[in-house]
Amino acid sequence: MGTSFVSFLVGIAFAALGYSLSSIYRLRKVFSWLRQSGDSDPPESFGEWGELLDELHRLRRNYLARSSKLEQRIVHLQNSFASLDDAVVLLNKADEIDWINQSASRLLGLQESDQGQTLQNLLRQPDFLEYFEEGEYDKPLSLISPVSDTTELELLITRFGEANRMLFVRDVSDVRRLERTRTDFMANVSHELRTPLTVISGYLETMLDTDSDWQPALQQMQGQARRMEDLLKDLMQLNKLESVPEKKQHDVIELGSIIRTIFDEISVHKAQQKLELKLKTDAQLLGSHQELYGAFANLIHNASKYTPEDGTIIVAWQLEASGASLSVADTGIGIEAQHLGRLTERFYRADPSRHANTGGTGLGLAIVKHVLLRHQAGLSIESTPNVGSRFICHFPEDRVVRS
Ligand code: ADP
Repeated sequence: MGTSFVSFLVGIAFAALGYSLSSIYRLRKVFSWLRQSGDSDPPESFGEWGELLDELHRLRRNYLARSSKLEQRIVHLQNSFASLDDAVVLLNKADEIDWINQSASRLLGLQESDQGQTLQNLLRQPDFLEYFEEGEYDKPLSLISPVSDTTELELLITRFGEANRMLFVRDVSDVRRLERTRTDFMANVSHELRTPLTVISGYLETMLDTDSDWQPALQQMQGQARRMEDLLKDLMQLNKLESVPEKKQHDVIELGSIIRTIFDEISVHKAQQKLELKLKTDAQLLGSHQELYGAFANLIHNASKYTPEDGTIIVAWQLEASGASLSVADTGIGIEAQHLGRLTERFYRADPSRHANTGGTGLGLAIVKHVLLRHQAGLSIESTPNVGSRFICHFPEDRVVRS
């Protein structure tokens, strides 16, 4: 009894040992199969081992198919980027260059051997470094190519993945040259027309002082000459706003005094109109005094122009959830909804026949929009025909000095 029990135990021990050895053998075979990189068949197995290997094989095939598709996509993308005229630079989390295309060498002077280097060590222009570090990439950056002084670039940065960044750089030299030609042409034409116009106006004034049958005609001519002078003045101002680069202008502006001066100008012509100023905050505004004065004067003069003598104009300066706003409201003729989106276009006038006598140029709101853009501000317009209009300038927080 004792001997057969011991033999039974020894038998079990041998069987267990045999099973463990065969399991280790199979496991080794599975590992060596898993380590192979291709899509080879798994080692032959039966029972549960077989099922496990079939499942592993299926998963592996799926994985290989997916990664080969991804690889193809990456190669396709890299090929597309490589052939682009625009420079593309991919950066990793540590701002090191992961990949560049050929145009990056032509436009930015980067080389393939720069891969792995920190970008800021290679592109050292202060404007670029400030833009790159600030991290506000909603507007593109204009810069001169480090390779050639005559190449003007526009640079855009997009974030992707885990804090990776991608730089897109376009050569905009031709576009800028065309823009300059256009603004130079406008400036020259406006300038050249001013001198003859001044001479004509001078003669008209002298002739108007004399008594003649031509008086009505001369008066009309003088009116038109004044209109042309206003047009040239507005065109020159718009041109200046477009061609003078945006500086960080930081005059501290006290709104109350600006608005009161503009009200005084209006009272001279429209003594009956009620002018109200509501200063709901004593916060001040940061920006170009001259440009903002021009913009607010345009809005308030418009309000007066399109409001009857017995109407009211209310200018209000108030804080908003973020930033502050200056609104100009009137009880005038109002504007039909279909015109609202186009009012800031050059020469757009809501109803030319209706406004034929206002003496407007159709450029005032285009100037306002430009000035506001240069102050990172926006314009919104609300209006109801025959009830009145409200033009609101919204300034961002960093343009507002709260006391
Ligand atoms: P304009 O010199 O003709 O006034 P603007 O560019 O200043 O040119 O304004 C464009 C058009 O917007 C005007 O012609 C007018 O139709 C309309 N507009 C501007 N402000 C007002 C206002 N306060 N009330 C009614 N219409 C206005």
